Amino acid sequence: MLVYEIIRKKLDGEKNSAEEIKQLVTGFVGGEVAPEQMATWLTAVYIHGLSDEETWWLTEAMAKSGRTINLSSIEGIKVDKHSTGGVGDKVSIVVVPLVAAAGVPVAKLTGRALGHTGGTADKLESIPGMRLNLSEEEFVTQVKRIGCAIAVATEDIAPADKKIYSLRDKTATIASIPLIVSSILSKKLAGGADAFVFDVKFGDGAFMRRLEDARNLAEALVRTAKLSGKKAVAVLSSMEQPLGHAVGNAIEVAEAIDVLKGDGPDDVRELCLAVAAQMLWLGGAVTNPDEGHSKALELLQSGAALEKFRQLVSAQGGDADVVEDPTRLPQPSYRVEVRAEQSGTIVSIATRRLGLISGQLGATRIGAEQVNPSAGIFVLKKVGEPVEIGETLAILQSNNPIGSEIVNETRGCFAFGEFAKRLPILAGIIG
Ligand code: URA
Repeated sequence: MLVYEIIRKKLDGEKNSAEEIKQLVTGFVGGEVAPEQMATWLTAVYIHGLSDEETWWLTEAMAKSGRTINLSSIEGIKVDKHSTGGVGDKVSIVVVPLVAAAGVPVAKLTGRALGHTGGTADKLESIPGMRLNLSEEEFVTQVKRIGCAIAVATEDIAPADKKIYSLRDKTATIASIPLIVSSILSKKLAGGADAFVFDVKFGDGAFMRRLEDARNLAEALVRTAKLSGKKAVAVLSSMEQPLGHAVGNAIEVAEAIDVLKGDGPDDVRELCLAVAAQMLWLGGAVTNPDEGHSKALELLQSGAALEKFRQLVSAQGGDADVVEDPTRLPQPSYRVEVRAEQSGTIVSIATRRLGLISGQLGATRIGAEQVNPSAGIFVLKKVGEPVEIGETLAILQSNNPIGSEIVNETRGCFAFGEFAKRLPILAGIIG
């Protein structure tokens, strides 16, 4: 069909066929479909939406636009997880070894810092020697040998997404649920797993601010993954404040290690257990998610998850002794405390702004090509906690001197009031 006709149909609110969508995607990657044609179609999708079937056809075409990883030689149900991104999100660092410790193979492709949020690849690379750029053979062999691997997704995984995302970014068409679903799921499907758990975040520090939007996204992700023949569950979790206390790279690894030791902040532990419970269930290690929760807790308490983390780090060239001695992780040259200038209760935290500040300190790619492994923010006070004047709200870490403006800006991220309830981390499970 003429590309003109494919675009015209969507502009008029009609349905496109699988063939038409495939023609559009492959044509765009191959250069036969011009960027202005694709941009017009994306705008029409932004306005009229896509049916579930169309979303699946788009996802499939994007997933097949590049290399797909073949995990079929690994025995068992291969489970992967995906987070829509947040501030202080170290869940993958905990749940990958945790789930693998129960015998469920986890082959995880992961990303780098994006916007105000950090990336698991950057976080893990703060461990001296740890390598995330595994070849497909290394990736598969390692999962067979120790039950898990975490590798950075290369450029040839779903290249259509890269091209389409960049066009969406320029044309204000990012915030379309079918486009977000196809973007996330095409990369996951190319990674080759059989089942997925999506951690869909909402709140100030998330890309989807409103819970209702996050729920719609979570439902669409699960429906589309199921149409592809995969098992899928979504967990809705709050990003109204940073997850845990650590925001950065090495400091997040240290906090994840605390959780793997059966310790660490309550919200991180609760979310990790919820995600792991679903992964264990989808992976067939337990008969229901409640059993998965008990199993995950047991693996944290017995030290089995921590031992699997040690194996994961060693297998990828990293210094596993950071588990016993976190001071082996990169340390910053400068640390500055941000103190409260009033007493009261923390009623909200400007989480997105804190993510941006962590970037200014060097923890993300905002304004820099390379992340600084030791940069970040340690958030001591969370929503609902009482604070006395002069108490430390947060500690800033950087390899560069930290000026008073950034200290004041961080202080301004904490809003004071008389009373606020502690914020729950979980808002629902969609399966
Ligand atoms: N994350 C993605 O990978 N794609 C989107 O479109 C939005 C968030």
